[in-house]
Amino acid sequence: MTDTNFPLVRDLKNTFLDAFSDQSDLHCSAVAPNPLSSPVLVSSNDQLAKELGLKPEDIAGETMLSLMAGDFSATNLQPIALVYSGHQFGVWAGQLGDGRAMTLGELQVEDALTGVSELWDIQLKGAGTTPYSRFADGRAVLRSSIREYLCSEAMHGLGIATTRALCLIESKTPVYREEVESAATVCRVARSHIRFGSFEHFHYRNQPEPIKALANYVIDRHFPSWSDDDGKYAKLFAHSVTETAKMIAHWQAVGFSHGVMNTDNMSILGDTIDYGPFGFLDAYNPDFICNHSDANGRYSFKNQPSVGLWNLNALATSLMTLISSETLVSILKTYEPTFLTVYRGLMATKLGLSHYNDTDEDLINQLLELMAANNVDYTLFFRNLCHFSENRTVARDMFIDRQAFDFWAEKYGQRLGQQTVTDVQRRQQMLATNPKYVLRNYMAQAVIEQAQQGNYSGVNLLLEVLQNPYDEHPRAQKYAGLPPDWAETISVSCSS
Ligand code: AMP
Ligand code: MG
Repeated sequence: MTDTNFPLVRDLKNTFLDAFSDQSDLHCSAVAPNPLSSPVLVSSNDQLAKELGLKPEDIAGETMLSLMAGDFSATNLQPIALVYSGHQFGVWAGQLGDGRAMTLGELQVEDALTGVSELWDIQLKGAGTTPYSRFADGRAVLRSSIREYLCSEAMHGLGIATTRALCLIESKTPVYREEVESAATVCRVARSHIRFGSFEHFHYRNQPEPIKALANYVIDRHFPSWSDDDGKYAKLFAHSVTETAKMIAHWQAVGFSHGVMNTDNMSILGDTIDYGPFGFLDAYNPDFICNHSDANGRYSFKNQPSVGLWNLNALATSLMTLISSETLVSILKTYEPTFLTVYRGLMATKLGLSHYNDTDEDLINQLLELMAANNVDYTLFFRNLCHFSENRTVARDMFIDRQAFDFWAEKYGQRLGQQTVTDVQRRQQMLATNPKYVLRNYMAQAVIEQAQQGNYSGVNLLLEVLQNPYDEHPRAQKYAGLPPDWAETISVSCSS
């Protein structure tokens, strides 16, 4: 039985349903969860709870647990599942939609620093079927839920735009995958769950009015100052282009591979969304494919920037009734320069350079080529490079071809010499830019196996570490080194 005075029951709005009251069945469906049995809290995210103005003890409490298990009795919550379509692996896939996610409502949150209020969707992922489940069960298993929970917080910790995760529960409800697993739910929190595919859905049905209504909803909710502006739709598209370019530049700089960059997995606000078979680079390899199902490498690491543009083209096509083709094309042309500017700036910062100069392109590319040829661990190298001035041997010893490294290091040293900052200042800045911890697959796998035995301490330790990935964490020292050999045998696919 749920306490009606609980903030997530009492304070939730549903501006989405309100906005589409006359055509809601086009955009979403009212749904009811199918409750999970014997729920147990795996982890709750104190940091996010506080950011949302909620009490951490509430999020870890009994009321939250029954809500997360899908028990909405005695509440007046009206969860909804949103419809969307999309291009999957470059092919039009038709209608998809929230097949296992339901939005409970939106929480109004005031930013502590700016005082600006924003609505955050509170969503339950894994609570049962919806009209968009097709032939699937609407459930999520513990392993994929742990991966989403930890990775969204890891990305936030790295300063990358992303959906968030408030808590994670597991249950005794069985789920049938390759074998029987237990069902889990994640409470996903996001500024928006509207995807490129939400617009494509109506475009491919020849329904311009719902496209306009959806664009107006996004603008009124996120950019109210544009509401009366003639160019508001172009501004919205330009925002998607810029934020997507920035997001992917951050992915490339940190070595993150999303794995399923289908247009239904691209947020209109440019937040990283839908964590499935993602992977962080271990050894630097531009051809890295993290998704076992991606046989042709469409979503390989190096392809991500161009796939971002491909996806934005698909979004542009679906906005053609709102924005002229010339304007769409001219906005699309800003993608590549935006991506390059942000990516170069981030790489320069990783190298401890205060500004990116044109000559730095060679320095960066030569380094990446060397790292690829020598199988050098991406995260660890940059962390070791922070100590270049006092001890360059640790970074150097990561290369088989030490002479080639020395050749590069000579040029790097000269470049550093052109700057005015002291070595100490540069080291501090680099340590705050190059994470000590990223969520490597083997780390997720290790805590998943523990959790499957009922021990959640690993999940909670990683949450704390990944939320602060630049800090030293003596308790997590075992995750700070190279991945173990068995890491290469882990295979992650879309099935979850
Ligand atoms: P994803 O690959 O997770 O982005 O999902 C692609 C589509 O499949 C989306 O429409 C999901 O809602 C749906 N989907 C994935 N897993 C399930 C599931 N277990 N039950 C119902 N729908 C699912
Ligand atoms: Mg998806």
